[in-house]
Amino acid sequence: MTTNETAAAGAPHRDRTLWLIAVVLVLALAAIIWIANRRQPELAARTAKTGMPLTREQQSVDFQTADLTFDVQPNKHRIDGRAILGFLVKAPIAKLQFDLDPELPIQSIAADGQQLQGSAWKNDAGLVTVNLPAPKNPGDKLSLTVVYGGKPHVAKRAPWDGGIVWSHTKDGKPWVATAVEGEGCDLFWPCFDNSMVEVGTVTQHVIVPKGLAAPSNGRLLGVDNLADGRTRWNWQARRPNNYAIAIDVAPYKLAKTSYDSRYGYRMPVEFWYLPGEDKQAQKLLAEMVQTIGFFEATIGPYPWWDEKMGVVETPHLGMEHQTINAYGNKYKAAPEGFDWLMNHEFSHEWFGNQLTNADWDDMWLHEGFGSYMQPVSLAWLNGRMGYDAAMFKQRQTIANKFPIVSGRHQTEEQVYDPKTGPGGDIYVKGSWVLHTLRGLIGDQAFWTSVRREVYGRPDPKPGNFQPRFGSTNEFQAITSQEAHRNLKWFFDVYLRQAKLPRLVTTRQDTTLALQWRTPRGLPFPMPVEVDVDGQRQVLPMTNGYGSVMLPNPNSVVTVDPDSKILRQNDAIDRYRDEEAKKPKTS
Ligand SMILES: [Zn+2]
Repeated sequence: MTTNETAAAGAPHRDRTLWLIAVVLVLALAAIIWIANRRQPELAARTAKTGMPLTREQQSVDFQTADLTFDVQPNKHRIDGRAILGFLVKAPIAKLQFDLDPELPIQSIAADGQQLQGSAWKNDAGLVTVNLPAPKNPGDKLSLTVVYGGKPHVAKRAPWDGGIVWSHTKDGKPWVATAVEGEGCDLFWPCFDNSMVEVGTVTQHVIVPKGLAAPSNGRLLGVDNLADGRTRWNWQARRPNNYAIAIDVAPYKLAKTSYDSRYGYRMPVEFWYLPGEDKQAQKLLAEMVQTIGFFEATIGPYPWWDEKMGVVETPHLGMEHQTINAYGNKYKAAPEGFDWLMNHEFSHEWFGNQLTNADWDDMWLHEGFGSYMQPVSLAWLNGRMGYDAAMFKQRQTIANKFPIVSGRHQTEEQVYDPKTGPGGDIYVKGSWVLHTLRGLIGDQAFWTSVRREVYGRPDPKPGNFQPRFGSTNEFQAITSQEAHRNLKWFFDVYLRQAKLPRLVTTRQDTTLALQWRTPRGLPFPMPVEVDVDGQRQVLPMTNGYGSVMLPNPNSVVTVDPDSKILRQNDAIDRYRDEEAKKPKTS
């Protein structure tokens, strides 16, 4: 017997012990994770919502600057923050209010540099009220420095259920992201959690452990090496959407190039990705440059031409974080030969970030337009087949349960919850409404209308436009002007009613009769093209009726041969409902 054999003889026992220890450790870890997740407190009512009406105090100031320092501690799942908020007073105030998750306790607040007593502020279920040392009058400036920190709300299912994502790369390094569109900016910084408030300038200082990078919104001001080995990443962004302000931390690598615009400017294009993906990253970077060129030619100048086009790889699928879009599509192969997610989030730089909905009720302006840009891009990349295939896919999921636009104030949640609002229809039905509108008024009027809605003018050039807020009513007015006819009937039926218009066709002998049926009998003079034995005719459908004389009873007829019109389709509805019953695999 050799020594080795002796050692081997004792091995099974030791193996068992080690095995037991490992099992106990794994179980303990699972228990800790389970308890940690279970213990996450429910969000306070106000914190959970975004787009709540602004309070009187919030309406009394212009939110001009936010200088935000985030000390990100991935091992503790903790962020310590310091926010210096700058306001211009518009109406007399004795106190100021802002939104912040009460789970991030405030340690101190200073007003214009003067430390306040702890009794001067309170966080009431997410709404912080600060009694100012002295009243402020119109024209006064006010600076609040808020020091706070704690464990930010963890997203369970980002980006649909928002918060912070504490993840890890394959080799165990921290990989952190935020996604707060549904709940709002108050999940990690003191803000006015309403889409109508965009801070003039946001400066971010993100402090991260050694070896990690923190790409963010806007321009990079510089990276500081701290004495303890950590780094501080300083960024500055112009007029970002509140929910677009993001923290991203990982051992990122940077793929970078520059873009020369048809509008005469040069701009950095950056993709921050995880190590080991150099080849895929270079490919996506090339696609980003190609995409911005097409979007500029189609819509108009990239709104953040003086900052950058930025994309960052995230553990969650995606989000339209201004100039640092979240990308989590894992470079998936697609027969279309493009990355739909990068394309979709990038479209939000125009529809969402440059043009922001005046109320969440108008959110189809972000998602309908954002979703229409994928078929439009595919027409450019792959020709007609790409466009039609993408439109047909979108068509199959339209639910028609709630109108896209209710005409009332809505929070983001109300719009997204399929029990209270249109949910996915703001994407797919919104896209189809635009397709139908384009077919009705033609390319020239359509794209000019889009341009005016996005930039507030038909002739945008870098420097002659600012980010703006838009509404459905405004878009209706613009398209009516561009098309030289009142299009209220179009928007009333497609956006303000849940059900689609139905085209009833009756064929008798050599007569084909067509009739539009709409919810509540609303007027719908939508012209319809009809092919009869290969001959195209257009029925004006004035008053909702039209008819065609057929050459003979056997004539071959195709109604709407180019599929220009969104209308009720029973076969698609049956298919959609059966698909919905199938168990979900992902
Ligand atoms: Zn989107």
